[in-house]
Amino acid sequence: MKFGLIGEKLGHSLSPQIHNLFFKELGLDNTYDLIELKPEELEEFLATAGNTYAGLNVTIPYKVDVMESLKSVSLDAKAIGAVNTIQFKGENGFGFNTDYFGFGRMLDNAGIKLANKTVVMLGNGGAAKAVLQYILSQFPAEVYVATRDEDKAREKLVDFLTRKEDIKFVSYEELATRVHGDVMINTTPVGMHPNVDDSPVTKEALAGYEAAVDIIYNPEVTKFLAYGKEQGCVTCNGLYMLVAQAIASEEIWLERKLPDTLIAKIERELRESL
Ligand code: NAP
Repeated sequence: MKFGLIGEKLGHSLSPQIHNLFFKELGLDNTYDLIELKPEELEEFLATAGNTYAGLNVTIPYKVDVMESLKSVSLDAKAIGAVNTIQFKGENGFGFNTDYFGFGRMLDNAGIKLANKTVVMLGNGGAAKAVLQYILSQFPAEVYVATRDEDKAREKLVDFLTRKEDIKFVSYEELATRVHGDVMINTTPVGMHPNVDDSPVTKEALAGYEAAVDIIYNPEVTKFLAYGKEQGCVTCNGLYMLVAQAIASEEIWLERKLPDTLIAKIERELRESL
């Protein structure tokens, strides 16, 4: 069977490596392609992709745009407002979101709990929607979203605001001086390779936090996580999330449950190969 990832620029994607490790592990003779598409090519590609592919993953900037080409979208993906996994049945595509699952599994694996905590999420982009949905599902005490532009953030996260009025938006300046949180989660690309000396917040802004979570996985320790470690936080990067969301996509495509131990095994093999 053929699978693949669609996005605009995919040069540094680790997805083929993860799925190939998975195919090897299960002895499957499947393939995983990287498919770069220009925005104007997306709709036409999806109209016939089911003739070639059994399933696709979706990344920046198409996680929202693909939804209108699909036959139907799961309730989870609708609530999040983004699709990262498509299963084809004939030419009909069905949309799912496994980033939500991957993020939750990553926190479980790191032993980080959000219930009754003050949780601060940095950023309001595509990945932030799945992360925010997961945060809200865990009954935190308070949720702050730090953003460069509150109006834009409100517009992007409007579906979450109608369901949960208690999300508070703060600027990065306010975050450092006014907010005393427990868990800080970076969903911005700030600090990602090659800009490894950048951090979305100062070291001081992490004072008093129990945990710092970065969904970036390259480098392994971002500046943000290094600051967190210096402040005594439990830290974790996004590699486990990346592997967990990929395995959850495989579960959808293969229509079978896979053991959790597989996530940890593939994450370890991937980490050692990087
Ligand atoms: P995106 O949709 O482009 O969103 C990026 C967000 O970061 C936006 O809210 C943007 O703010 C903010 N931002 C960008 N530059 C900033 C800066 N200099 N200062 C403050 N905020 C800034 O990207 P995405 O898809 O959400 O991905 C974000 C990161 O998550 C990437 O590094 C990606 O690799 C990673 N990711 C990891 C996983 C995983 O499985 N581990 C999954 C998905 C994504 P504005 O709205 O103000 O522009």
